Amino acid sequence: MGVATSPNTAGVDKEVVTSALNSQLQDKGFLLTSTEDIINWARTGSLHWMTFGLACCAVEMMHAAMPRYDIERFGIAPRASPRQSDLMIVAGTLTNKMAPALRKVYDQMPEPRYVISMGSCANGGGYYHYSYSVVRGCDRVVPVDVYVPGCPPSAEALLYGLLQLQRKIRRTGTIVR
Ligand code: SF4
Repeated sequence: MGVATSPNTAGVDKEVVTSALNSQLQDKGFLLTSTEDIINWARTGSLHWMTFGLACCAVEMMHAAMPRYDIERFGIAPRASPRQSDLMIVAGTLTNKMAPALRKVYDQMPEPRYVISMGSCANGGGYYHYSYSVVRGCDRVVPVDVYVPGCPPSAEALLYGLLQLQRKIRRTGTIVR
């Protein structure tokens, strides 16, 4: 019996699939899946986030990494080097002066790479939208996959954004991005 490890499995469906996988493993000692599914499974379960804390939103980002929310249980772990990161969380106000550095860090990240824009400032300039010194959205500098609204977004909101990114990777994932 084949077990579907479809890219759209999530929530309760995921538990059903996991138990089917376990029973197949116990019964036969092996399982069948597609290369694409296994690559997406590895990608979604090993996101290494490059922390880009620019302002107050970064405090909520740190909060999400602390034991209460513990995003490492989803396989999402922080890295301090862009060369080993595949997810950038832009947390805070992006100024014109900082924008080239943000792009440089993004360029140093290997493909496939993803970006989460966290908070009103990163999403569109926020309070500083009309300031001469602030970029009106980090998507003018890097391509954004998920926007998390709020000022600041709560740690729960960022966690939800991360789960949405995992769903997006499963839904749109191909071997070549
Ligand atoms: S969105 Fe609000 S909390 Fe986040 S960096 Fe801007 S002003 Fe600070």
